[in-house]
Amino acid sequence: MATAYLSHGLFKAHRMQPDHPESPQRLVSIEDRLQEAGLMDILVYREAPIATREQLERVHTARHIDELAELSPEEGLVPIDPDTYMCPATLEAAWRAAGASVLAVDMVMKGQVKNAFCAVRPAGHHAERDAAMGFCFFDNVAVGAAHSLEEWGLERAAILDFDVHHGNGSEDIFRDDPRVMVCSVYQDPLYPYSGSPGIPGRLVNVPVAPGTAGPAWRHAVTDAWFPAIEDFRPQLIILSAGFDGHAADPMAELLLTEADYGWLTDQLIALAERHANGRIVSCLEGGYDLQALSRCVAAHVRRLAGV
Ligand SMILES: [Zn+2]
Repeated sequence: MATAYLSHGLFKAHRMQPDHPESPQRLVSIEDRLQEAGLMDILVYREAPIATREQLERVHTARHIDELAELSPEEGLVPIDPDTYMCPATLEAAWRAAGASVLAVDMVMKGQVKNAFCAVRPAGHHAERDAAMGFCFFDNVAVGAAHSLEEWGLERAAILDFDVHHGNGSEDIFRDDPRVMVCSVYQDPLYPYSGSPGIPGRLVNVPVAPGTAGPAWRHAVTDAWFPAIEDFRPQLIILSAGFDGHAADPMAELLLTEADYGWLTDQLIALAERHANGRIVSCLEGGYDLQALSRCVAAHVRRLAGV
């Protein structure tokens, strides 16, 4: 069965400061690399739709949704925090980034595709129930997970977050929801300086020190994530797919390579086969070295597509 690729032209219209590392060029480099590798030809492309308000309100407050609409500028940039800005295209891009994960969940649940990669901007995993932060406005993976529970009646979904930064938004949103497992592996200390001790078997935080390389990172994930995922038996796996743990990434100090992301993808595919009928929805989060990012995404998507 095929792999879906969800994106939208507007994701490249969302811009922050001119020299901001979270740039439209990230998606250009990913698309170029997938094209070069011949992967685009075998992926099922869909435009990311605009999420509905109901879908957003499952995980965000009405106040937060309304506030972003009010802040959205007609021209120029509006700061949300010292690193996060809205331009005129940001609001619709954020609604569509959330909509991508909703459509991806629908496609894998209907069996139209085996799995899906959502090439979105803005990213999502730092957005909390009531706050935008850290380049994120709505928590895209959280919107997708909530959709799988409410629309498809799943009893257990897992959000697995391998971005180098802790997924504080997903933790904030699902901390008290026994239907959703949240696993995160991240550099510590590093922005956003969060990550609670966790909840055994359901909220699994795995901090690793700056300078950690592939072998130790693989051990940490193998020891902490995999037994918990086996026990939780998620019916759907949703990935916060950040590639900023790569050794070349300017935002953090881990020493991962594309082989490490390929390895993890293989492990998660095997877990999804055992528990979730293979269903994986992967949503882009971070990754700021354009060459490394595009190589990592290609390694990830190649495995999702099974080629
Ligand atoms: Zn990140």
